[in-house]
Amino acid sequence: MLKGKTALVTGGSRGIGRAICLELGRNGASVAFVYAGNEEKAKETLTLLAELGVTAKAYRCDVADFTATQQLVKDVTDDFGGVDILVNNAGITRDNLVMRMSENEFDEVVSVNLKGAFNLIRHTSAGFLRKRAGRIVNITSDAGLMGNPGQANYSAAKAGMVGLTKSVAKELGSRGITCNAVAPGFIHTDMTAAMNAQILETAQQLIPLKRLGEPEDVAKAVAFLCSDGAAYITGQVICVDGGLRM
Ligand code: NDP
Repeated sequence: MLKGKTALVTGGSRGIGRAICLELGRNGASVAFVYAGNEEKAKETLTLLAELGVTAKAYRCDVADFTATQQLVKDVTDDFGGVDILVNNAGITRDNLVMRMSENEFDEVVSVNLKGAFNLIRHTSAGFLRKRAGRIVNITSDAGLMGNPGQANYSAAKAGMVGLTKSVAKELGSRGITCNAVAPGFIHTDMTAAMNAQILETAQQLIPLKRLGEPEDVAKAVAFLCSDGAAYITGQVICVDGGLRM
């Protein structure tokens, strides 16, 4: 149970991030979540959390902005008294073949997915060190472990998150802080809804469990990594992908 703990989840307005907020809330945590600009979806998540009786607040912030995320962590600390769990889930894609990919498409994806995770870890780690406790979970992707045509930017950012996870696990482990990554495969969200139906159909054939995953499948793994039962697990990448990568 996560009673008395505060979770800070990025990208909590929709998809996997919303499911993570709800699952951590169901497990007893208070939830501070970040969104980029979709007010309507952020309000929906707040309503769902309120229905579960979870203390929660939404924060609009660009995770790629170092200074803004520093202020965000201060605000969350003022509002909730601290952060016990950090889930770096916010992510974007800007798919293109590498020979056509613009500098901007590359930079944006690395800034949000990889630098965003660094920013939040950077600003929360002092609080974790003071408490000599903390859980960090980074949402990477099978694409970061296997590569994916059309996703050189995204795969590079997600692979970078794996290195970030392992370095942070080694740096902070002696203070009782764990840092792990969860790598989803193909999960039903707005991100996959925007993908070519043929690619999804082909992917489904390759997945041993023969279905796409649901956001809740990912959220359950994240909640486990945040639980007392996962106290001796750090620096790991847990794939939640129906067996796609093994
Ligand atoms: P969605 O596109 O459904 O949601 C993205 C979330 O991230 C939204 O809450 C969005 O906020 C937020 N966000 C985007 N950019 C920023 C930013 N700059 N600052 C703050 N918040 C931001 O994504 P998914 O739920 O599909 O994916 C969640 C994570 O899981 C991502 O990291 C993704 O890469 C990863 N993943 C997803 C897979 C899938 O199949 N869906 C597979 C593998 C990994 P807003 O609503 O305001 O726009």
